[in-house]
Amino acid sequence: MIGATLLPALDTDALDRILASHGGEPTQLVQILRAAQDLEGWLPPSTITHLAARLGLPRAQVEGVAGYYAFLHLAPVGRYHVLFSDNVTDRMAGSEALLERMCQNLWIERGKVSEDGLVSVETTSCTGMCDQGPALLVNGIAIPRLDGARIDAIADLIRDARPLADWPAELFAIADNVRRADILLDARVRPGDALRAAIARGERDPELASNERSWRERVPTVPQGPTETLEEIKRSNLRGRGGAGFTTGLKWEACRTSLGARRYVVCNADEGEPGTFKDRVLLASHADLVLEGMTVCAYVIGARQGFLYLRGEYAYLLPPLREVIARRRAAGLLGKTIAGQAGFDFDVAIHVGAGAYVCGEESALIESLEGKRGVPRNRPPYPVTHGYRQQPTVVNNVETFCAAALIAIHGGAWYRDIGTQRSAGTKVLSVSGDCARPGIYEYPFGVTVREILADCGAEGTQAVQVSGPSGTCVGADEFDRRLAFEDLPTAGAFTIFDGSRDMFEVARNYAHFFAQESCGFCTPCRVGTTLLCNVMDKLAEHKGSLHDLARIERLARLLQASSHCGLGHTACNPLLDTLKRFRPVYERRLQSREFEPAFDLDGALARARAMTGRDDAGAHLSAIE
Ligand code: SF4
Repeated sequence: MIGATLLPALDTDALDRILASHGGEPTQLVQILRAAQDLEGWLPPSTITHLAARLGLPRAQVEGVAGYYAFLHLAPVGRYHVLFSDNVTDRMAGSEALLERMCQNLWIERGKVSEDGLVSVETTSCTGMCDQGPALLVNGIAIPRLDGARIDAIADLIRDARPLADWPAELFAIADNVRRADILLDARVRPGDALRAAIARGERDPELASNERSWRERVPTVPQGPTETLEEIKRSNLRGRGGAGFTTGLKWEACRTSLGARRYVVCNADEGEPGTFKDRVLLASHADLVLEGMTVCAYVIGARQGFLYLRGEYAYLLPPLREVIARRRAAGLLGKTIAGQAGFDFDVAIHVGAGAYVCGEESALIESLEGKRGVPRNRPPYPVTHGYRQQPTVVNNVETFCAAALIAIHGGAWYRDIGTQRSAGTKVLSVSGDCARPGIYEYPFGVTVREILADCGAEGTQAVQVSGPSGTCVGADEFDRRLAFEDLPTAGAFTIFDGSRDMFEVARNYAHFFAQESCGFCTPCRVGTTLLCNVMDKLAEHKGSLHDLARIERLARLLQASSHCGLGHTACNPLLDTLKRFRPVYERRLQSREFEPAFDLDGALARARAMTGRDDAGAHLSAIE
């Protein structure tokens, strides 16, 4: 319990300034809470009460939102709050030993705040640095390439209470590691090129376009660029790069033709799938192309407002992204009368997430944008008709917007000629794990797993996890399969495991990830993902039986049939895939082939034996006849 003397004095002026800078808007609640947390490092009860009163919201609602997100704290954390990335690739690179080393250096216990309040050390889900792990976040800022020396240096800086701004810049240097570039990563596009091409497309053939609907019906003389550009996007057969693969042109068209007072464009930059980090690189080095694609979309659907939903782990990208937005405004590529087109007004605001994997699901992301807990909505209706503030909204992935900008320039036919028949264009991959050259690789769709393994210098590979834990695990006999929607669809993660890796432990890490990230809204997922962890932990302790393996399959059926969203539907994928392809790693952990109870009654008495100092046969259930 927190003693009253430990509670900080409430700085209502500072809180009111934060509220004012967000327009006092309840839809800005997540951003307001992030800023308010910066004052004390956590959100004391008095802060919650004050914000709720000022925003006119029930206190329980504000506290409910704050309690939902992993990066918002309702209890004190250390002034230096260190979160080690706990993806499987971080573990493969030694993150657990490094975490222990830091705790020993700082004389603290993992998960607890030091007595002087200086530091706390915990783990978090994948931070998107898998090509340069192990990695950690300190007060939300990423530090990659950890080793013993860097851990010792960080511990010294914390012990000396040096402000983060004075830490060596080299610690925070994040590499792009682009290893193979194709049409997207190699694109030489000047800011505004795609917009000018989209506008000119309508102007080139006004007679042909004259029968088309204007994107602003009330101004019939406006050039037909929006409809012409939409036709090019449809012709390209571009499909969403976030994983679901919905046809982008149809999505834009559905939004454009939906009834609504306003339309919105949302860029989903919340890439939280473990093993995925390509959007980080696109945002760091191709932000203009991302914003160009969003603006082309706004031009097509008639939107005036866009949001870029940036995952909290990438908060370090905020300043450069704001610079790009400011530069585009100054160049007339955002704001009013874009590219000289009267009535073409569009701007983009950045919304920073607060640590919730499920917000990568588009309806959960919209809930978060509206200042709520990121719980996925019932669908239908879909965001194209009822999205942000119940208005027609396009939500697309970072990479999808980049591709759309290229299509606006080069045309749909050009794009469709690349890739395979059902998977047009290229795919940017995040390659990590056991290989000599982890990083970013862009390939035309249709590339085989084997080709990628050869390019990145992987040897002795036993498995590749394609598209992260919610994707597919393929074994060596499937390396001729192709990355494409018709074979192995992928949102981008390509995680490699050589023969030295224990695929059971890989699956166990993923099971814990899903349990950690389940939002808890629906019972099958909330309980089912925890039960899966329990089964995997029991097997890890060599206490399982064949009954437990069958239980995994039963839980998988339950989760797939009755979960509310994709997280629950896919939570069993890594377990089922590894059970199918690597069953011996499960079987050698079985204690017996018969039923073994999950609860070890005798083991539960161990604490009582320690407390009473008894260890005779009578104190063991197993010794009692
Ligand atoms: Fe939340 Fe899981 Fe239900 Fe999705 S399936 S709504 S993540 S509890």
